[in-house]
Amino acid sequence: MRKLPFDKAWIGATAAKWPTPFHVYDAEAIRENARRLKKAFKWNDGFREYFAVKATPNPHILKLLAESGFGADCSSMAELVLAEKTGITGESIMFTSNDTPAEEFAKAYALGATINLDDITHWDFLVETLGGKTPELMCCRYNPGPLKGGNSIIGKPEEAKYGFTREQLFECYAKMKAAGVRRFGIHTMVASNELDPDYIVDTAKMLFALVGELHEKLGIDFEFANIGGGIGIPYRPDQKAMDLEYVGEGIRRAYAEMVAGRGLKPLKLYMECGRCITGPCGYLVAKVRHIKSTYRLYAGLDACMSNLMRPALYGAYHEIVVPGKENSGETSVYDVTGSLCENNDKFAIQRLLPVLERGDYVVICDAGAHGHAMGFQYNGKLRSAELLLEKGGKVREIRRAETLDDYFATLDFSSL
Ligand SMILES: *Cc1c(COP(=O)(O)O)cnc(C)c1O
Repeated sequence: MRKLPFDKAWIGATAAKWPTPFHVYDAEAIRENARRLKKAFKWNDGFREYFAVKATPNPHILKLLAESGFGADCSSMAELVLAEKTGITGESIMFTSNDTPAEEFAKAYALGATINLDDITHWDFLVETLGGKTPELMCCRYNPGPLKGGNSIIGKPEEAKYGFTREQLFECYAKMKAAGVRRFGIHTMVASNELDPDYIVDTAKMLFALVGELHEKLGIDFEFANIGGGIGIPYRPDQKAMDLEYVGEGIRRAYAEMVAGRGLKPLKLYMECGRCITGPCGYLVAKVRHIKSTYRLYAGLDACMSNLMRPALYGAYHEIVVPGKENSGETSVYDVTGSLCENNDKFAIQRLLPVLERGDYVVICDAGAHGHAMGFQYNGKLRSAELLLEKGGKVREIRRAETLDDYFATLDFSSL
């Protein structure tokens, strides 16, 4: 069973101040993930991770990661403003959007962010938006289509709405160069929750080859290659975490041959992982509200899919720990549910767990990325607080729980 950075007594004491459900993030574990990623790519001068803000869009998490040397990968106006308010600006922001509105391009440009185009038509749209100005540094997102196999969450690249075709890349970089762009990067994102390290190494190889070809054809020296995010985490007990050292070493060898060996200018390697940085460090803590026995046995929690959508949305597996009952033996099979009026509002289906009782605390693991962030208010369910657990067990509230006033804030009852 998963080892938690807190126990039942800690939950009890914390819940006295912040009633369940709440999300809690282990700050030191996040810092350790950041250190490990940087170490795996230490060989690359200028290596940088731009944390995918959408995974855990909380300024306190972004600040912690900025202190670890990370930038921010933003894809919307709210995420750009969040980065700005956290003090992350300039080229510490990668702006990787799609179907982008003009005001977001304008905001990204005003912040000095590195703009990563999703489509060839966006180049003219961007220049028009900026009143004829051209950024000094530009990046394009490559979609290899049938040239690269897909993976189960992101699907096949040729069916993905993102990015340029190969031909479009050559055309757009030539156009940008002619228009006065001086600095160039290239980007791709072809994985999601991928646990095969060779897939990530192959992605880097694909970009290194392209950088070589674009250099030959267009005389462009690339400054960086961004291989995107998508490194998976072991949600299931039988899965293994990605061997980042293996990935770092594999990409180092490819770099030596395909970049340095070809006489290309030094290339900075960028990544924009979200999940593997914060995912395993976040927990949704809830309490058993009711036990129901009909055709199945149900454990109804005080949390629901508005706190964590992944199981309902993708049938995703999240480990569940019952603090205080770690040694009680897993002898009962439950559907672990929330209270939303949707039958897919289940955190686990037919899961073997210790015998549960009303009032038991239940910890849903690996909820630190794409967890609280995906929350919604359907059925009038409110989003929970987010807490940060610091070394020594100190807790800090980094987002308060929503209230009914928040829920009603956009309605005008006076005009009834
Ligand atoms: C979602 C996303 C990421 C982060 O993905 P993870 O699976 O959390 O690593 C990175 N880049 C882009 C463009 C994304 O859309």
